[in-house]
Amino acid sequence: MAEEVRGPDTTALDEVVTFTSELIRIDTTNRGGGDCRERPAAEYVAERLAAAGVEPTLLERTPGRTNVVARIPGTDPSAEALLVHGHLDVVPADPAEWTVHPFSGEVRDGVVWGRGAVDMKNMDAMVLAVVRAWARQGVRPRRDIVLAYTADEEASAEDGSGFLADRHAGLFEGCTEGISESGAFSFHPHPGTTLYPIAAGERGTAWIKLTAQGRAGHGSKVNTANAVTRLADAVARIGAHTWPVRLTATVRAALAELAALYALDIDTAAPDLDVDLLLDKLGPAAALVAPTVRNSSNPTMLEAGYKVNVIPGQAVAYIDGRTLPGTEEEFAATMDRLTGPHVEWEFHHREVALEAPVDSPTFAKLRAAVERFDPAGHVVPFTMSGGTDAKQFSRLGITGYGFSPLRLPPDLDYAALFHGVDERVPVEALHFGVRVLDHYLKTA
Ligand SMILES: [Zn+2]
Repeated sequence: MAEEVRGPDTTALDEVVTFTSELIRIDTTNRGGGDCRERPAAEYVAERLAAAGVEPTLLERTPGRTNVVARIPGTDPSAEALLVHGHLDVVPADPAEWTVHPFSGEVRDGVVWGRGAVDMKNMDAMVLAVVRAWARQGVRPRRDIVLAYTADEEASAEDGSGFLADRHAGLFEGCTEGISESGAFSFHPHPGTTLYPIAAGERGTAWIKLTAQGRAGHGSKVNTANAVTRLADAVARIGAHTWPVRLTATVRAALAELAALYALDIDTAAPDLDVDLLLDKLGPAAALVAPTVRNSSNPTMLEAGYKVNVIPGQAVAYIDGRTLPGTEEEFAATMDRLTGPHVEWEFHHREVALEAPVDSPTFAKLRAAVERFDPAGHVVPFTMSGGTDAKQFSRLGITGYGFSPLRLPPDLDYAALFHGVDERVPVEALHFGVRVLDHYLKTA
């Protein structure tokens, strides 16, 4: 158990900063439609793994869209393997809007700035720093650990985790659980209260295409079968729809933890629980659960017509729908009803919802790792409102948790930095993450 006490060395604490900064400087902007090149970042990671004796495999479905996979053998051959994955691509950033150049990786006053500083080159760098420290210290984890640095998470995942799950399942043999982004960052809803939300599930993706049919004609004539009017009616109904509350096990567990933390005299297990009232009482802490107590359906794109005085025969709209686990049938039936006559709907893109158990030994270990390094912090499970690579890896039977630990200063709004302007991460937060990951991954 000596390694457990030892923790990462000072080299690891230096390297995590260097790696975060240098990975940010490798511009891996994913503009969608295949417009991205992760290869230089993948090579950067692979070289540093190889130097630590961890043999990397580079895999591409499309030239330049490189993924890196490596396996660290554990000491307990009977233990199931653990997947640790992070994506190498980032969303676009407009330098004109930023305080520092988004691809400078500048370290200023103890803070690393740039696109990817929290989503998620920080996690990529923390994991890299940890496994290199293990090589120096002669540490081996209990479980096999499979590392995956993926391409294309910010678009379709077709060149990344989707490709790996479809074509290279063998590399993930024995993996039953995984950890990745969007969890275990500190969140400060009230002065003196520090929460660490650990993700145990994701809402499903249900992107919808609506097509309204009508009678084409001159814009000056009476037309009671106007496709644009029909479409607009359906879009307005869908956008304004209030979805019913549907509590999943994870969300119910989150509500129970928060109600206890704030000493609210509310039975969160009651079948007639007034969730909106409870959310009201939680104040800013409600932000953790409010987006995931219901499905959602937001209209986002409209396509119709080509000339002001011509009524088109068809009009099309797209809806960004998100579904909680177990609500897929209800979602479809609601769409049938809200679209009404003359408007057809179909799935444009669909991904399953995920739910990971919060009463599992793994969740308990994730919780313990965070609380060991911040005893005043409270771990709360949560469900992500959107999706990550965990959806693709779930097809291999891998249960995913969102766990990329950061202890952030109370005035830094982590959620706003995600895909936001002036994305940045304090050096101290990276050091915390390295310590937590080192401890968790060794003992997982
Ligand atoms: Zn991400």
